[in-house]
Amino acid sequence: MSWEIVRESKEPCGCGLGFVLTVVRSDDWNRTDETISLQCSECVKNYVRYSYDYQRSGMIETATYWVKKEDYKAFLQSKSEVDALQVIANKDLTEYLRLHYLKPWMDLFSDVPWNKKSIWSKLKLLGLTSYSYSTFSGKIKVKDLTEFVESFVTYSSVNQITKILSINDNNIETIALSTQSVRQRYEEARKVMMGNAFS
Ligand SMILES: [Zn+2]
Repeated sequence: MSWEIVRESKEPCGCGLGFVLTVVRSDDWNRTDETISLQCSECVKNYVRYSYDYQRSGMIETATYWVKKEDYKAFLQSKSEVDALQVIANKDLTEYLRLHYLKPWMDLFSDVPWNKKSIWSKLKLLGLTSYSYSTFSGKIKVKDLTEFVESFVTYSSVNQITKILSINDNNIETIALSTQSVRQRYEEARKVMMGNAFS
C-alpha cells in the first residue's frame, strides 16, 4: 500500500518570505490525508496554528489558519472567560426555572397516565420529542419517567418551556443576557485574531 501526493499548493505566508505548504496524499483505497505546514523561519516565531472544524454540505471540514501568538493568547483568555461564565449562567437559569416553573410544567402532565406511551404522546403533541415510540421506549425506563419529564425544565429547553407555558418573565432574559458583554469581548478578540491571520 502506498501513499502518493495528489496535490501540493503553496500560499504566501504572513511576512512574504516563505509560504504555507499544503500536501494532499491518497492511498490505493482512496483514503486521503492532508498536511499543512508553515515553511517560514520568520513567521514560525510569531504565529501559531489555529484550526477549527465546521460543517459544509453535511461534511465536517477543518479550517487551518496561522494567527499571531499574542492574538491567540487573548482569544484563548476571552474564550475561557466566556465558557466559565456560560456554565454559571446555565446553572443559574436552570435553578431559576426549577424554582418557578417546575410545578406549572408538571401540572401540564397531571391528566396523563404515567406510562411510557402516554408520556411519549404528550411530548410528541408538545413538539418536544422527535423519537419514534419504539426508540423512546428503548431509551427511557418507567422508573425514570418523572425525572425525564422534569428534565425539560432546564436552560437548554428554555425557549420551548417559555412558549408552551406562555411565560413572560424578564428575569429569564436577564440571566440569559448576563454573558453578553463577555461574549462580545470574546467575539471581538476572535475578529482581531482572524484579521491578522493568514491561511
Ligand atoms: Zn513568513
